[in-house]
Amino acid sequence: MALTGELFIGRARRSTARHFQAIDPARGAALEPPFSAAGAAEVEAACALAHAAFDPYRALAPERRAAFLEAIAQHILEQGDALLERSHAESALPPARLAGERARTVGQLRLFAAELRSGEWLGLRVDPALPERQPLPRPDLRQRRIPCGPVAVFGASNFPLAFSVAGGDSAAALAAGCPIVVKGHPAHPGTSEWVARAIVAAAAATDMPEGVFSLLNGPDTALGTALVADPRIRAVAFTGSRAAGLALMKVAAARPEPIAVFAEMSSVNPVILLPAALARGAASLAQAYVASLTLGAGQFCTNPGIVLALQGEGLRTFMDAAAAALGRVEPAVMLTEGIHRHYEQGIARLSGEGAQLLGQGAGNGAQNCARAALFSVTAAALLARPALAAETFGPASLLVRCADVEELRQVLEGLEGQLTATLQMDAADQPLAQALLPTLERKAGRLIVNSWPTGVEVCHAMVHGGPFPATSDGRSTSVGTLAIERFLRPVCYQGFPEALLPPELRATELPRWPHRLDGERRLAKPA
Ligand code: NAP
Repeated sequence: MALTGELFIGRARRSTARHFQAIDPARGAALEPPFSAAGAAEVEAACALAHAAFDPYRALAPERRAAFLEAIAQHILEQGDALLERSHAESALPPARLAGERARTVGQLRLFAAELRSGEWLGLRVDPALPERQPLPRPDLRQRRIPCGPVAVFGASNFPLAFSVAGGDSAAALAAGCPIVVKGHPAHPGTSEWVARAIVAAAAATDMPEGVFSLLNGPDTALGTALVADPRIRAVAFTGSRAAGLALMKVAAARPEPIAVFAEMSSVNPVILLPAALARGAASLAQAYVASLTLGAGQFCTNPGIVLALQGEGLRTFMDAAAAALGRVEPAVMLTEGIHRHYEQGIARLSGEGAQLLGQGAGNGAQNCARAALFSVTAAALLARPALAAETFGPASLLVRCADVEELRQVLEGLEGQLTATLQMDAADQPLAQALLPTLERKAGRLIVNSWPTGVEVCHAMVHGGPFPATSDGRSTSVGTLAIERFLRPVCYQGFPEALLPPELRATELPRWPHRLDGERRLAKPA
């Protein structure tokens, strides 16, 4: 079935007079068809439908929403190679990577379906009435969490499937009971259309209210701004640049009724090579580091953008081995012309700020191709020019040579908030690792020992978040089941008659869900 380039407003498709096209980044050529660009009328229509869908959608039993998520996963799989081929043409990401990303997308939809059935997310608490209590009786108090309302989801350029139309943010919001209005990323509108079709088909098959999903596309910032400003939107989920995340936070804060923006923005993911680990295997650490740095042309938010170590023989071996390994890395096409341009600017900035080029990947001068780059500075130079530690999105990294542990600690203290912090360590490094942990915990959302930050498991314990500017709100995660909590808020029901209570708080249904009764944990009893 050919792409139509239409917008998805609830169950309806809509064309507009303004159009844009996807660009194949490997050839710089426009891809067919032209895509309609949404304007104010489409924002209005999508938000009105999402608002109308909110109460009926959130009233559905968790099982119904779980079936919807599973149906989306199934419809995505049934699209077969057509989805992956289009995604490859729009992103230049290798087919194998895209197949893996589709598996992750489907897997996280199913994981949220299982989470819905578990009922953990409901956060049920019951403190029964104590009418005889002295000096005052206690009323019956019951708590559950309800969804916050329609969510604006921004598709990310670097995950056309797993963090776009039916990606992690969408899955978490839909699971929570929030209708979504997706602002597709302009780099991959065809991929977005394929996935939107899967969602619309799944919504029809599972009888979801109209307005539970809309997809708006557009090639300029006005669309995203209008969406976030719309009073019917109650939260925002975003992955992208710091500048865009900050702009959206400003729009959200300036509304008469401000809303939460969960933006995942910028992180350099420090990796600390501790002395005993370097002494044991500097060369093999260097190989693994270069593999992590250059994976997917370095276009991961968890890319190891900064490496710190104490000066010495081990570090010299590491630097030589990393430079040699980097020299063997083939250039890779980046996602968009703009991202490639920013990457080149980032490299120029690092050189301009006095970082020394230690090694470079192979170059071929081809369109939008990134040449991997490794720079080095002393800790003293970085402390004098903290801007050196800013993110360069792509396969570039900065190696920081520290004179002693105190300098290492100072550099870590000076870093901004991060998604991850990694320790490469041996048993003999334990005391130093222990001493650095309090700083690392303050700085990052995920602490890693002896592996690399790229590769984010979608599971219950994952945190893909961290203090600003890694994210706009370090109390949450955008990957894993805990992500659902961003779109929920607690409501307390005091003195309610049984018949007026929400179903899961009634005596008949409560035992089916995990809950706290008078503070004591109770497991769910099978129906
Ligand atoms: P982006 O510029 O942040 O754009 C992401 C989305 O936000 C797009 O839909 C864009 O729509 C919208 N947007 C951008 N600026 C906006 C504004 N001022 N107001 C409202 N909406 C706005 O990200 P990108 O296009 O993916 O890549 C650009 C740079 O972002 C990269 O070079 C990289 O530095 C960074 N990035 C970081 C990560 C990460 O995970 N840390 C991931 C991807 C990208 P329009 O384009 O239609 O305006």
